[in-house]
Amino acid sequence: MPAKGANIQARARAVEAPAQEPRSPEGPNGVRIRSVDRVFVTRRGEVAALAGMSLDAAPGEIVAVVGPSGCGKSTLLELICGLQEPDGGTVEADPAALMPQRDLLLPWLDATDNAALALRAHGTPREQAREAARPWLERFGLAGFERSRPAELSGGMRQRVAFLRTLLAGKPVLALDEPFAALDALTRLEMQGWLGSLLAREPRTVVLVTHDVEEAVVLADRVVVMSPRPGRTVAELAVGLSRPRHRTDPEVVALRERALEALGIPR
Ligand code: ADP
Ligand code: MG
Repeated sequence: MPAKGANIQARARAVEAPAQEPRSPEGPNGVRIRSVDRVFVTRRGEVAALAGMSLDAAPGEIVAVVGPSGCGKSTLLELICGLQEPDGGTVEADPAALMPQRDLLLPWLDATDNAALALRAHGTPREQAREAARPWLERFGLAGFERSRPAELSGGMRQRVAFLRTLLAGKPVLALDEPFAALDALTRLEMQGWLGSLLAREPRTVVLVTHDVEEAVVLADRVVVMSPRPGRTVAELAVGLSRPRHRTDPEVVALRERALEALGIPR
């Protein structure tokens, strides 16, 4: 059996993007996806997950992606992070870190070690990685829980640790896969507010997958609406509203209605 340390590193690598170089020397480009197809070959035949999917995220832009279950949203994020290759079309992206749909915290590690996993995956020794993570845990409202294991944390705290791990990967692009879907409604609201203010302080290029249309409008600069599988963009809504936004703001409600209409949900 491999040593536990080696095991941790292998698991950590599985959730982080491999080291990538920006694909242009001119500086950050954000994300540029053009006419991407992705087909999975299964024992029961081919499954077209994405067909002609296009999406842009400018550097520093927050783009939310909404679409029905199974339309290829997680696949899209893995393509952005270089964890999958497209079968057609092109994917260009600055280096990106994935926050996977399930939090994937390691149950035997405390909050600090879990947050520091991305650093250890790149070879930083444990104590140094913990040291680097510590001030962030405090900033993330986790002071006093540095040594708590995932089972001792609330759902919202676990998500913050998972998010911190993604942030500490140090990549200019964050690919967030339904980060709040598993939380109860109140915690979800609290976490949305928290993420909004965090991104105001620590701007990143963000592709946020969510099935919560209000969350998309409250957090994003732009909302991309996808078709059912095979997924492609069917609508794009610019959200030119000042922040912080509230889900009851009339402009937010109006944009939510437009997004739901684009999703084909009867109004
Ligand atoms: P979403 O995140 O929007 O719910 P996914 O990207 O997870 O959708 O999946 C899109 C489609 O591709 C689904 O039909 C799913 O079953 C299929 N799919 C995803 N990953 C694989 C895989 N590794 N092998 C086979 N089919 C897959
Ligand atoms: Mg998914």
